[in-house]
Amino acid sequence: MEKITNKGHVLVLPFLVQGHINPMVQFSKRLASRGVKVTILIIESVCKNMPKEFGSIKIESIPHDNSPPENIDKYFAWFFTLVSKNLGAIVKKLSHSEYPVKVLVYDALTTWAIDLAHQLGLKGVAFFTQSCSLSSIYYHMDPQTSEIPLDGSVVYLPSLPLLEKEDLPSFIYESVLYPAITELVFRQNINFKKADSLLFNKFDMLEEEAVDWIIRIKCSIKTIGPTIPSMYLDKRLKEDREYGLSLFKPNDEICMNWLNSREIGSVVYVSFGSLASLGEQQMEELATGLMTSNCYFLWVVRATEENKLPEEFMSKAKEKGLVVNWCPQLDVLAHRAVGCFFTHCGWNSTLEALSLGVPMVAMPHWSDQPPNAKFISDVWQTGIRVKAGENGIVYRDEIARSIREVMEEDKGVMLKENTIKWKKLAKEAVDEGGSSDKNIEEFLSNIM
Ligand code: UDP
Repeated sequence: MEKITNKGHVLVLPFLVQGHINPMVQFSKRLASRGVKVTILIIESVCKNMPKEFGSIKIESIPHDNSPPENIDKYFAWFFTLVSKNLGAIVKKLSHSEYPVKVLVYDALTTWAIDLAHQLGLKGVAFFTQSCSLSSIYYHMDPQTSEIPLDGSVVYLPSLPLLEKEDLPSFIYESVLYPAITELVFRQNINFKKADSLLFNKFDMLEEEAVDWIIRIKCSIKTIGPTIPSMYLDKRLKEDREYGLSLFKPNDEICMNWLNSREIGSVVYVSFGSLASLGEQQMEELATGLMTSNCYFLWVVRATEENKLPEEFMSKAKEKGLVVNWCPQLDVLAHRAVGCFFTHCGWNSTLEALSLGVPMVAMPHWSDQPPNAKFISDVWQTGIRVKAGENGIVYRDEIARSIREVMEEDKGVMLKENTIKWKKLAKEAVDEGGSSDKNIEEFLSNIM
């Protein structure tokens, strides 16, 4: 890889939830591997016991003792206050070093960061940890400017397939539940006007029309993904096997030993990511559906969700399943025993499944997950989507049926073939000279 001799320094500001940390850390590694100085900004009380650096990347932490608010809406406001109070002093401190900061790569959700960057004389680059299609939806359906009625059964938007109500992000219809996040997701559109450049964690071929649409309104956009640790795709960064900044402690050994003793393609891996919280009834339906599918399953139930498992489930499930609080998801998806990913369709999980060639059962929960599920089932055709019944609950029979459909012959084979195609394209994008690789080079020469 070409080394940049420029003494520029990139400060990276991820919003501190796991699904936003992972891609931005991974992107930082790609910059660092080209000789660019990178510092990642975190908050001490969120990222406890984090290393001060990994590889040549430095971690700068904002000291703060109190635990962050549990409510995600309040968490956003808390994060904003702490970063905006401290960013100036941090940039000043780093500016006295041999490598003054030139660019702030900020999480596109932290829309306030662009003004801070410009006030501090830095270029501001918005990093989107979501799909281009989602940006298109928020852009066209912004309640401040949109004239699209919300009472129809389908929505036609430029660059997107026909979307039914169930395919739209949850914030379109459930704005009252999370008012601050809802406002923020639409405010992200500010990035199109103000940011010096836009980066998307994806590769062009995934959503070609949506990329073309964004280029028409903002020419300085670059797709730089999938941001999966190098050893799972291009293998050019030899030590790069995991994301590196985990807010959860994975049960590595237990998971891998358990998978090692299972046959090829016999296990369903089940995870709803780092934030989604299912209701008790939904947990019971899922637990029973997994049991009646008669497949082996590895289910991640975060510690805070465990109390919703049905009584005696753990002892009943012992023969068929393993339940852990967190797992090394990339190793799990890459394991030969895993035949299907039962997923909430978080953007990282979606990209990881595509990149590692694992067919999915899509059970979206909130946020951007419904449109991601739409692409998984209808556009890329790498999975099927469960159908929700009354009150939005997905019942046990539907869960078991969907798993069997993906795990068994016929449909399963077609899905597997499609995932292999996408896996190849993901690798080509990050390989030397691939579209994402070239875009990172171009981004650096334009911005530094
Ligand atoms: N993840 C993991 N272990 C788990 C569950 C999730 O390492 O047991 C990782 C996963 O690989 C992904 C991230 O956590 O990179 C979750 O991000 P995603 O966008 O899929 O969902 P979110 O948590 O943001 O809803």
